[in-house]
Amino acid sequence: MNAMVRLSMLLGCFCMPANAAWLAGAAKADITPAESVPLAGYGGKTRMSQRVDHAIWLKALAVRDDSGATSVLVTADLVGLSDKMIAIIAKNAAEKHHIPRERLILNTSHNHSCPVTEDVLWLYYEFTPEEAAAKDRYTAMVYAKYDEVIVAAIAALAPAELRFDQGLAGVAVNRRRSRGPESRAFGGQVDQDVPVIAVKAGDGLKAIVFGYSCHTTALGGLSINGDYAGFAQLELEKAFPGCVAMFVQNCGGDANPLPRIRGRDVEAVELAGMYGHILAEAVRQVLAGTMTSLSGPLKVAMGETELPLQPGIPLEELKQRLPNLTGMPRREFEHFIRQHETAGGTPDHVRYPVQVWRFGPELTYIALTGETVVDYSLKFKAAQGWNTTWVSGYNNDLLSYVPSLRVLKEGGYEGVTGMFEYGHRGPYTEAVEDLITAKVMELLEKAR
Ligand SMILES: [Zn+2]
Repeated sequence: MNAMVRLSMLLGCFCMPANAAWLAGAAKADITPAESVPLAGYGGKTRMSQRVDHAIWLKALAVRDDSGATSVLVTADLVGLSDKMIAIIAKNAAEKHHIPRERLILNTSHNHSCPVTEDVLWLYYEFTPEEAAAKDRYTAMVYAKYDEVIVAAIAALAPAELRFDQGLAGVAVNRRRSRGPESRAFGGQVDQDVPVIAVKAGDGLKAIVFGYSCHTTALGGLSINGDYAGFAQLELEKAFPGCVAMFVQNCGGDANPLPRIRGRDVEAVELAGMYGHILAEAVRQVLAGTMTSLSGPLKVAMGETELPLQPGIPLEELKQRLPNLTGMPRREFEHFIRQHETAGGTPDHVRYPVQVWRFGPELTYIALTGETVVDYSLKFKAAQGWNTTWVSGYNNDLLSYVPSLRVLKEGGYEGVTGMFEYGHRGPYTEAVEDLITAKVMELLEKAR
């Protein structure tokens, strides 16, 4: 060994960050229903699906670094997952595939053109026995597909390079400004970043993971599709044959793709396709640029905080008002009364999980739970680095909207009035943002 080689080995050992030798595997599983099923995401009259615009999917990326630990990100063209679903999927992943909970991130695109699964947003719907049976058959298929896609991604593990960069797409609009004259005073905050992880193997792209902060609500008809995110994934997979394109919903709790069209179905689908095209083009431009190689290792941390709720409506008042209610408000009141009568009261807090994955100094990936508003994305990126931080929402249980202190104080749907729909007795207290921030900071430290 000559002196130069010995010197570079020493430098390699003591001075330079060691690049992880990544293994990565990607897979997808078709979750398009085979029959007419109840559609998710909007309350009111049950919408049974009448056609399929394009297939919907579960997609998984498994990564393994030098340490030998395997981590799996699963994305889904679904509206969300419930606590019950998360528990079943995570238990399977741990017991059958040895993926510990902190190394499993389950994100959904918040698609409003997908079937209802299990008990997600259960207060929204009132099903006939036939509709409920169709929902249950579909749910059973989805559980099996989660299993299948995780196994397939792990089986596909092979040497790869992970690269990261971000683009921009102007589709998201702060939807709180569009709710009548009083809402015009609300701010127009949006996060239009398009973070992208490219998984490269040899000359080809194995997977593209890309995110955006915007409700997938361009559509709301009677079709199955992936909304704008589905169109974007389709376009990318067509452009890069053999590649799995995965959409991650970020902090789009208070953003919609606007304008959108209701009642003119053909034009609405066309517009959703255009939004998808804009997003896909942003991703393609990132892929064509110089992306930063992720050095690893992948350090992970997961924890939970408790978000206190403001007091609910007293039992007497719930009972007094119940006879005047119908539909979803009636189901909400019945739920609260049941909680009083069976559990001695309504729960005073919500359990809130947070996950952090650090891919090395080049990328910190923060996974928040529920319908997180944009302030969380902007806040953590400002604090941790605009170009090295990815803040996703809509992971874990679709437990509620998650307002910042600003949104909570402003009031409106995402801060206050949307809470009953999720079965919570009232809005979060003003501690909500501080509690989430403290947990994120704690986990960032832990995953350092
Ligand atoms: Zn939503």
